[in-house]
Amino acid sequence: MAGDTADCAICKMASRISEQRIIERGEHWVAHATNVPGWVMIATTRHGEWSWDLTPEETGTMGAMVAMASHAIRQVCDAERVYMIGLGENALHFHFLLIPRYATDTERLLDHAVHDALGLLNEKTANASEADATAAKLRASFRS
Ligand SMILES: [Zn+2]
Repeated sequence: MAGDTADCAICKMASRISEQRIIERGEHWVAHATNVPGWVMIATTRHGEWSWDLTPEETGTMGAMVAMASHAIRQVCDAERVYMIGLGENALHFHFLLIPRYATDTERLLDHAVHDALGLLNEKTANASEADATAAKLRASFRS
């Protein structure tokens, strides 16, 4: 296991977070509300930084946690959509954010953060043959 609790930003945050911010605490995942209303962080309960570090039990329970938290966000926030964003830098837990996207947020979000990401995506896919070759490698790896 990489790192210890004293060095872990998520363990430190978890020790300070109030119980009323906890949306759901399962054996493998914790979902908690962040300081931004409607934004929910879901993190593993143990250290393991990346998706490839997840145990079969964690992968088997992640989908239900995401679906239930997303449903809750849509219901509570009247969100049109729920984005799922995970970068994973500077944390010892695999984690991601669920972010409500409101009908009125479309222009703001899509024209800034998401648009920037999509711009990078378009640059990367400009070379279709490279993208196709990479896709084939990913497909083969996924099925191996
Ligand atoms: Zn930790």
